[in-house]
Amino acid sequence: MNTVTKKMTKQEIFELKERIQAQIINESQPSYTYYQVKTNECTITAYTSGKVVFQGKNIDWLAPQEPSIMPQAGSDEVGTGDYFGPVVVCACIVNKEHMEYLQTLGVHDSKQITDNAILKMAPKIMELCPHSVLVVSNKKYNEVHLSHNMVDIKCLLHNQAYINLESKGYTLPDFIIIDQFVQEKTYYKYLAKMPKVIRSIHFETKAENKYISVACASIIARYTFLQSWKKMEEAYNFHFEKGAGSKVDLCARAFVEKFGKDALSDVAKLHFANTKRI
Ligand code: MG
Repeated sequence: MNTVTKKMTKQEIFELKERIQAQIINESQPSYTYYQVKTNECTITAYTSGKVVFQGKNIDWLAPQEPSIMPQAGSDEVGTGDYFGPVVVCACIVNKEHMEYLQTLGVHDSKQITDNAILKMAPKIMELCPHSVLVVSNKKYNEVHLSHNMVDIKCLLHNQAYINLESKGYTLPDFIIIDQFVQEKTYYKYLAKMPKVIRSIHFETKAENKYISVACASIIARYTFLQSWKKMEEAYNFHFEKGAGSKVDLCARAFVEKFGKDALSDVAKLHFANTKRI
C-alpha cells in the first residue's frame, strides 16, 4: 500500500471529487474531512485542513509528472490478453492546448479506469484529439496469425496506426511514444519488409501512465474494444468472459456447445492455449 499526501485548496478538493465521480464506489465523511471516497485503485481522504491523502497499491500516476514534450503522439493496444474479442490498436496525437482539459477529465492509464468511466471519457477525447483506431476481428486475426506471431502483428498495427494518422492529413509530432511490448530493434526488424515505416519512436514500458498521448490512445482502444465486445455479445446473445483463465475455458465450452466448434474462429484467438484445453 502506498500513500501520497498533497496540499490542496478547498476548490481543488471539490474539483477532484467531481473529476473522479464516475469512479467512486463508496463515500463517507469522517470527522474533520470534506469527504472520504473509495475508487477501485485508491482511497482519498480530504481533510478540512487542506491535506489530502491518497492510499492505494497503484498510485504512481499521482506523483508529480515531469513536464511533457508537446505535441506528442502515443499508441497502445488492447485485447491481446483476452481469448475472446478483437485486437485494437490506437494512435493518438495530443497538442499542448488540450493537455489541461485532458487532465481534468482524469486521463491516465486505462487499466486503472473502470469500464463505465472509459465509456464516458473516450468520446470526449476522440472529439478533441486526432486519432486512428485499428480493429482486427477474430476471423482476420486467426488468418493473419497463420503466418505472423502476436508480437509481429502488434508491430504492424502500431506502424499502420501512425501511417493512418498521416493519411488523414495530420502531421506526426517529433515525439512519438509506444507503450513498449518488444525491444526497439525487434520492432523495426519485424517492419523491415513494410513499404513505409514510421521511425524515431521512443519505446517505454508503462508509458500509459507516464505520457498523456499513450493514456489517451489506451482509453480510445479500450473504448473501441468494449464497443466490439458489446456487438459480439448482442450478435450471439451470449455472455463472453474477459481474460484467458479457467472462467474463459468454461465460457468457451458453453459457446462451442451452443454454436459449434467452427464458430469459435469468429470470436476467439485460436492460438491461445484455451483452445486446446476446451
Ligand atoms: Mg500496452
